[in-house]
Amino acid sequence: MPDSTRKAALQALETAGVEYVYTDDLCGLCAEPNAELLTLLNRQKIMVLACFPRAVRALLERAGLTDNPLIETVNLRTTAVDTLVKDLHFDGTRPGRRITLQQKNTTWQPWYPLIDIQRCQHCKQCLNFCLFGVYALDAHQHVRVSQPTHCKTGCPACARVCPCAAIIFPKYADGPINGDAVDEEAWKKTAPPEHLQQRLGSNVMKMLRNRTAHTAAESLEHLKDQLNIPDSVIENLKKEHPR
Ligand code: SF4
Ligand code: SF4
Repeated sequence: MPDSTRKAALQALETAGVEYVYTDDLCGLCAEPNAELLTLLNRQKIMVLACFPRAVRALLERAGLTDNPLIETVNLRTTAVDTLVKDLHFDGTRPGRRITLQQKNTTWQPWYPLIDIQRCQHCKQCLNFCLFGVYALDAHQHVRVSQPTHCKTGCPACARVCPCAAIIFPKYADGPINGDAVDEEAWKKTAPPEHLQQRLGSNVMKMLRNRTAHTAAESLEHLKDQLNIPDSVIENLKKEHPR
């Protein structure tokens, strides 16, 4: 969200007469189960001012929230703050009470996939595709994000590979990968891997499984346009894994 929106929302909360929790980065805060956050979320009606509801739900699930029907999400990526303040009838005259919670790993710039469990069909394509051990299987043989810090910042590649549009990167620019609603028809038209296999004339998953990290970077280079992989990610991969 734009910095101006964040500042305006905070300014409104400072005089809203309500208790609120602030964090610099919800992705960072929710990267691991977070008991402190859960205690706050479970105790009353909650409104989350952040991004797309699908992304917020997946983030809070990752933090350990199983269900809280009283959570309402306001998307600051699409809602103007003055509209928000008007609609919420913030007091505007009394100080808010701020509780600040921050991510534990302060050196990490959070970027990792979230799985929308309502859409995931457990095909495991993301697990097979990812080179960096971000995904693993749980006891039910369902894919889970096990090592979020291993993900490559700025890369949404596995989200482009998922046939179900079930993978969310909340900081990605475009929907549905950013958590925006899924346009099923549009997704079907662009959905890999059929599209990629057609383009490459080979089994891309097999190719990607049989690679070294450097050749994987080269493989991904061929796929970067289809998977929206930034040049910087490919370059970093090659540097990190020289021949
Ligand atoms: S590729 Fe998508 S549908 Fe398949 S397991 Fe991964 S998240 Fe689920
Ligand atoms: S974006 Fe790349 S590194 Fe991150 S989880 Fe997906 S495939 Fe793995």
